[in-house]
Amino acid sequence: MGRACESAGRQTESVTLISVSKNQPLEKLWEAYELGLRDFGESRLQEAESKILAMPKDVQWHFIGNLQSNKAKRIATLFSVIHTLDKEAQLKEIAKANRPVDVLLEVNIADEPQKSGNPVNLLDAFRSQVLNCELTRFRGLMTIGPAVEDPELMRPYFRLMKQINDRAGGEWLSMGMSGDFEVAIQEGSTHIRVGTALFGERDK
Ligand SMILES: *Cc1c(COP(=O)(O)O)cnc(C)c1O
Repeated sequence: MGRACESAGRQTESVTLISVSKNQPLEKLWEAYELGLRDFGESRLQEAESKILAMPKDVQWHFIGNLQSNKAKRIATLFSVIHTLDKEAQLKEIAKANRPVDVLLEVNIADEPQKSGNPVNLLDAFRSQVLNCELTRFRGLMTIGPAVEDPELMRPYFRLMKQINDRAGGEWLSMGMSGDFEVAIQEGSTHIRVGTALFGERDK
């Protein structure tokens, strides 16, 4: 992270490292906590719930998984940030939690048929709906992007994400994982989501 920030002329404080702790046992979360990490990413409500109860209150929990509408209210109750908002039905459920929650809108940047997230052309309309929800605070955009061998191949997608995010008025930009976070930082990511590179391989 430090090297990537330096090469891009950015302050390291401008990037938040989200420790993606899904499928990792609680001891690993404690190790990360003791090293000073305070942002954790989880993908499944049920698994996250027990970890959230067990960990100290100063942890920021980021929901990065598939956001099922029937679980969205509970997720909005437990998590500080939801990275994967892409449907109106989810928005309605989040509003029922009746508490402020930061949200990022997931973008299917490469128009991959199997991926969640809105394509770029539908983003403006969805963003307007989000802005109408008082307690749902629009913070910016998120993408996972195509799985590629060479992280350099992600650069054009990350660059496009940055342009779209700026146009949408996003202050945060959630992109970059273990294999490509350096490129993501160089292209303007503010939140990298790193699991394997921190914790090693996950239990399947
Ligand atoms: C699992 C996951 C990550 C972390 O992936 P790694 O390659 O282990 O760093 C990041 N983002 C999302 C949305 C994930 O589901």
